[in-house]
This record gives sequence, structure tokens and C-alpha cells, in this order.
Amino acid sequence: MPIVTPKLIINNQEMPCISGKQMMLIDPSTGKEWYSVDEADSEDVEVAVKHAEAAWPTWSATHAAVKAATMRKFAGLIRKNAKELAEVEARTMGRPVSLLNFDLAVAPAIFDYIASLVETAHSTLTTNTPGLLSYTLNQPYGVTAGIIPWNVPMLMFAFKVAPAVGAGNAIIIKSSEKAPLTPLMLGKLAVEAGFPPGLIQVLSGYGPTVGATLARHMKIRKISFTGSLGVGRLIQKMSSESNLKAVTLELGGKSPTIVFPDADLPSAAKQLAHSILMYSGQSCMCTSRLYIHSSIAEEFTKLYQKAIEAQASVIGSAMDEKTTHGPQVDKIQHDKIKHYIEVGKTEGNVLLGGQNLNQDGFFIQPTVFTDVKDDAVIVREEIFGPVSVLSTFETEEEAIQRANDSEYGLYASVFSKNINRATRVASALDAGSVGVNCTSPTLAPDMPFGGYKQSGLGRELGPSCLYAWKQTKSVFVKLD
Ligand code: NAD
Repeated sequence: MPIVTPKLIINNQEMPCISGKQMMLIDPSTGKEWYSVDEADSEDVEVAVKHAEAAWPTWSATHAAVKAATMRKFAGLIRKNAKELAEVEARTMGRPVSLLNFDLAVAPAIFDYIASLVETAHSTLTTNTPGLLSYTLNQPYGVTAGIIPWNVPMLMFAFKVAPAVGAGNAIIIKSSEKAPLTPLMLGKLAVEAGFPPGLIQVLSGYGPTVGATLARHMKIRKISFTGSLGVGRLIQKMSSESNLKAVTLELGGKSPTIVFPDADLPSAAKQLAHSILMYSGQSCMCTSRLYIHSSIAEEFTKLYQKAIEAQASVIGSAMDEKTTHGPQVDKIQHDKIKHYIEVGKTEGNVLLGGQNLNQDGFFIQPTVFTDVKDDAVIVREEIFGPVSVLSTFETEEEAIQRANDSEYGLYASVFSKNINRATRVASALDAGSVGVNCTSPTLAPDMPFGGYKQSGLGRELGPSCLYAWKQTKSVFVKLD
């Protein structure tokens, strides 16, 4: 695995952390230690900020065509190194290699798409005020940061880095302590792509140390955070208590779906099983609350059960090509999900799963509950595991009200062949993304992504994404 490094990526070099501290990674498929990486601390942040400050002005003034070409070269390098990236990702966070194609296709596609936005960016000009020629300049913030979670590190790297550098900023990425390796590998590929020293730097380390130093840093003017709601609140607080840096928050979810009687039920069941299992339930947008019209509940339940069993037919090591259902990322996550399953057993009926799996590693049997009240813990809280709840409904209004009865609003979906009903429901659902006859993880680089309510603040991707990484200046030119 030649592109793996345990060091930090600072100023285009592999740098040991100043403290010399190491973080040990545990392979979730075996529960055993397998690799140790350097653990950054506040002093490493200071070094990275200094290099970032030096890097961004020249990059910002670089021709858009050069920026775009470098981004496309980087996208090509991700594709070229996809196999190694997949192997390391699988080993680190337990997603089966066979399920990593999605991330490895979307991450470079984001760089390609945003490169095209860089080339075609325009500012506005107006002569509406007599005697004035007025125009806007969209300028970078300068030094920025991205704090990312462990569940989709490569995608999150692309979500933050592509628009940040596309907009002319330098960015420091703080990876999750649970999955630091692929961000480091991407940091190395960024050097190979030709990004200048200090522009893209990657720090491995813990949240309360490195993450908090970034969020509080006076010289960092913009931060984009993806992770849990609780830490998202802290980021917002630390930002406002320091220099009021611009904040984007991409937080948790408890995604609902509504399945109407006229839906293509086999297709809906298959997609919904894939949604909850693709990341072993460890996805912010996985569909965990299913509202099924009572007239088709029996038929749908059988189809969903079969689809879950088919998708999770081979439970095993994430490194095995045949595995279709891998482990949870670590023991903490595993134990938290087990706890929710035990709570669920007191709140409803187990349709499927719920048993302990007698094997090494952090495996959880996909589990489906029925007959659960809307105020149950397993309906309201983000479990972040392969656990879903099936409920029935009678009317469209009732289904919408119950689907929206959550403080989360990241993703929702509706299955119906009636285009009028489907689009009416899509409009009524409180979510930043809605799938019609499809569900998460459907997303696209040219469509904005983000949350309603407490699922987040701001949007990433889509045609306006560069503006989240720029500040606008109005210039008034007085004419005689
Ligand atoms: P987390 O909030 O525990 O950690 C996310 C990142 O924040 C990590 O890098 C962590 O080290 C850092 N962090 C932790 N404490 C910090 C602190 N005090 N100051 C600064 N940084 C700190 O989340 P996680 O467990 O890594 O990821 C799972 C969560 O992420 C879930 O809630 C999931 O829904 C959410 N998520 C959301 C999206 C989205 O796009 N909305 C995508 C993926 C994951």
C-alpha cells in the first residue's frame, strides 16, 4: 500500500507530529490493532495555519483554467488509485470493499464538477445607478478548515476540499480519529496533482484537541463541519466565541420514507434495504423510518425482509470481496447500537434480526422493528446502525405529518407512481433532499446537499457551492 502514510500532510510534506504521540487503529473486522498514525495537536495546527496563510494568495490569483486543470488531475489520481483507497477504507472503517464503488465514483466527480464551476464563475455588474459602474468581487476567505467524520471520509474530503480550493482558499482537513488514513492518502495525491504547498493539509487527531483548535482559531475564517448534532452545536459556539468565522454544518438524520399502494413495491423494498445497509446503517441519510400504507403492509413487509436478507447475505470481513455486510466502525459504535436494539425490544416487535452474532469484530445483525409508537426512542434518535422501524399509515396527510415529526431533516423519500401525489408529498416533506421512487444514497455533485431543521446549516455541492467558500465585495466606480 505505497500511498498510505501515518504522518501528517503539512506544506506538501509527510510530517511527523510535533508531540510524537501515536493513535492506534483497530481493524473493525477483527477487533485487533493494525496500524498507528501520528496524532496532531494544537502546535501542529499552528504550523499548518502558517503555511496555509502563505499559500492561498498566490493560488487565489492563479488562472481559473490552471485551478480547474489541477482539480481534474486530482480527480484522475483518485480514480487511478481507487483499489488501494478502497482497501484502506475497508480495513479502517469496515465498509466492504464491494460497496465502496459509490464513494470512489462520487468523490472525483465532485472535483470534476466543481472544476467546471471554477472555469465558468462570473460576478455581477450593474449600471442601474446613474453615475456608477458597480460590480461584485467574490473573494476567498483565505485560511479555511474542514472537520470530517469517519463514515464517508473520501466523500467528505471532496465535499470540503473541492469547493474550498475551487474558490481560492487554502484548507486544513481534520479527519476523524477513527478513519484518518484515506484523507492522508488523498492529501498525498493532492501533492502529486500539483496543488501548491500549504494549500491542502491533512491533520489526524482528536476532536477536543485539533478540532477545537481549528474551530476557535482566529486566523481561520470559514469552517465546514460534518458530524453529529452535538459536536455541530459546539463548532457553532466555538466559532462565534472566537472570530465569528463562517460555519457550514452537515449533521445527523433520521430519514423517513412513505410508500403508497401504487408504488413499485419490489423496487421500493430493494432500494430501502440498500439504503439502511449500504454503510451498515452508518450513514447520515440512511432510511431508518418506513411509513407503509396499511393496504400493502403485509406484502411490502415480506419484500423488505427478503431484500434485507439478500443484501446482508454474506456477513464478514470488509476486506473480503464476497462480503455484503461488514462490521460497525468500532466497539463504541457497536455497543451503542446494541443498546438501542435492546431498548427497541421493549418498545416494539422484532421482525428481523436483533440477535448477537457470535464472531470476532464489531458485527451487528440487520434489525427491523414493527409496532413501535411514534414517540419511541428508536423512532426519534439517530441510531447510526442497521436498524429500521416499519410503521403503517392510512392517509397521505397522516404520513406526511408523522414523517415530518422529527428535529432532523436531511433526507426523505416517497414511493408512488402517481406523479401528482409524489411531487406533492416531495414538496411537503421537511428535508434537504427528497427521493421520488428512489432514496438515499442518491445524490449528485450538481445538486445541493444539506439539512432542514437540526440536520444542518448551509448547503454543499450544487451550482452555488463556491459561494459558501467566498465572501462578496461590492465595488462602486464613480463615473464622470
Ligand atoms: P462526531 O461529531 O463525533 O465527529 C465528527 C468530527 O468532529 C470528527 O472528526 C471528530 O474528531 C470531531 N470532533 C469531535 N468532538 C469535537 C470537538 N469538541 N471539537 C471539534 N471537533 C470535534 O461524528 P462522527 O461519529 O464522526 O460521525 C457520525 C455523525 O456524522 C452522525 O451523526 C452522522 O449523521 C453525521 N454525518 C452527517 C453527514 C451529512 O452530510 N449531514 C455525513 C456523514 C455523517
